[in-house]
Amino acid sequence: MIAEKSATKPIVACEAEVIEADVAIVGAGLAGSLARAVLARAGYRVILIDKRSIPPDEFRVEKIAGRQIDILRRLGFIDDVEAIAAQAYDRVLNIRSGKLVDIGVGRSYGISYANLVNMARGLTPDASSFLLDQVTNVSCSEQRQQLTLASGRRVVSRLVILATGMTNVLGHSLGIRRRMLAARHSVSFGFTIARPDNAPFDFDALTCYGEEATDGVDYLSLFPMSGGMRANLFMFRDPTDPIMRELRRDTRRTLLRLMPGLQPYLGDFEVVGQVQNWVMDLTVTEGHLRPGVVLIGDAFQTNCPAAGTGVGRLLVDVERLCTDYVPRWLETAGMGVDKIAQFYSDRDKLAADQHSLQLASFRQALTLNTDMRWNLRRKLHFLRRMITHRVDRIHPGWVMRVRSALR
Ligand SMILES: Cc1cc2nc3c(=O)[nH]c(=O)nc-3n(C[C@H](O)[C@H](O)[C@H](O)COP(=O)(O)OP(=O)(O)OC[C@H]3O[C@@H](n4cnc5c(N)ncnc54)[C@H](O)[C@@H]3O)c2cc1C
Repeated sequence: MIAEKSATKPIVACEAEVIEADVAIVGAGLAGSLARAVLARAGYRVILIDKRSIPPDEFRVEKIAGRQIDILRRLGFIDDVEAIAAQAYDRVLNIRSGKLVDIGVGRSYGISYANLVNMARGLTPDASSFLLDQVTNVSCSEQRQQLTLASGRRVVSRLVILATGMTNVLGHSLGIRRRMLAARHSVSFGFTIARPDNAPFDFDALTCYGEEATDGVDYLSLFPMSGGMRANLFMFRDPTDPIMRELRRDTRRTLLRLMPGLQPYLGDFEVVGQVQNWVMDLTVTEGHLRPGVVLIGDAFQTNCPAAGTGVGRLLVDVERLCTDYVPRWLETAGMGVDKIAQFYSDRDKLAADQHSLQLASFRQALTLNTDMRWNLRRKLHFLRRMITHRVDRIHPGWVMRVRSALR
C-alpha cells in the first residue's frame, strides 16, 4: 500500500527496481514537465518519465503570448520563460493583400519548442525525479497504478498522468481511444528568413493573412526567435497538393506567389536553413474516464496550429489539475473515477478544450469557405478590424471603453 501523503519522503528505488511515487507522469514535453514542476514544488513525490533525454528539434509551438503568459505568471514560471526568450516583442503588424489591417499590441516571446521544454524540465532541479526510459505498459486501478518500463523497471504510484502528446499507444491498453474529428485538418510550415546582409526587417513581428480562399492560406506569422526572423505558415489545403512540395523546395518564390502583398514589407530576403512542415489531424479522446489515470495536453486532445490554442489548453490542464485536484485527491485514500471525473468536468478545462475546437473550425472556414455567408463574413471580419484600428488611432482607448460598456 502506498503512503497517502508523503511530501517529505524521498523517491524510493528498491533493489528490485520498483520506484514508488505519489504521482507518475509519462511524457516530459511541455505539459508533463510543467506538471512535475508544480507538483514537486508543492512537496509531492513525483516521477517524470520520457524516452528522450533531449527534446527533439521538432517544429511545434514557437511563440508564447496572451493568456498563456497570464497562466505562466500565475504558476510562477514567467521569469524562467523570459530568461530563455531570445527577444520579447510587443507589436505585430497585421496585413492582408499588402494593406495594413491593424496592429496587435501585447507582449509575446519567440522560443523554439526544444528550448521551452528544456526550460520546463529544468524547473525541477532534483535529477532523481526524471527517468530516461520508455513506458511500455500502464495498469491502473482505484488504489495503485503501475507502469512497466522498457528497461524492466517498474513505477508504482497513486496517480498516473499521461502527457504523451499526440501518440496514444499507452492509452489503448486501458481502453482509451482517439476519435478522429478531422484527418489532415491543416498543414504548417516553419522556417527562418533573413536579409542577405543580415539587416533588420522594418517590423518587430508581422502577420500576413491569405489573399484568396482558393490558396488555402490562413496566415503567415513572422516573429523574432534565436537564429533570426522565424516564419510560421498555416494552411488548410490537401497535404498531397503539389504546392506543398513547391513550398518545401522553393519556399521564397512560392510564398511570394501566394502572398504578393508581402514583398514590400520583406524587401530582399532569403530562406535560411531547414524548412520543416507538419500535417495535423484533429482528434479527441474517448473512454478516458478510468480510475487512477488522467490525460493532459495533446494526449487528451490535439489542436489546430493555426488556432494557436495547444499551449493555452495544456496550461489550463496543468494549472487546474496540479494546483487544485491532485492535492485534494491525495488527501484521501483511493483514486476512483469519482475523483478523476472532477478534472474532466472542470469548467475552465471544458471551456479551453471547446474553444480550441471551435477556433479550429472557424479558422478553416474563414480561410476556405466560399459560400455567400462566409464570403461576407470574411469581408466583415477584416473590415471591422480595419475600422476599429483607424478609430482607435484617432480616439485612443475609445473602442475599448465602448466594448466594456457593451459587456
Ligand atoms: C507545427 C505545430 C505548430 C504549433 N503551433 C502552436 C502555436 O503557435 N501555439 C500553440 O499554442 N500551440 C501550437 N502547437 C501545439 C503545441 O505545440 C502542443 O499543444 C504542445 O507542444 C503539446 O505538448 P505536450 O506536452 O502535450 O506533448 P509533447 O510535447 O508531444 O510531449 C510528449 C512527450 O511524451 C513522450 N512520450 C510519449 N510516449 C512515451 C512513452 N511511452 N514513454 C516515455 N515517453 C513518452 C515524448 O517523448 C514527448 O517528449 C503547434 C503544434 C504543431 C505540431
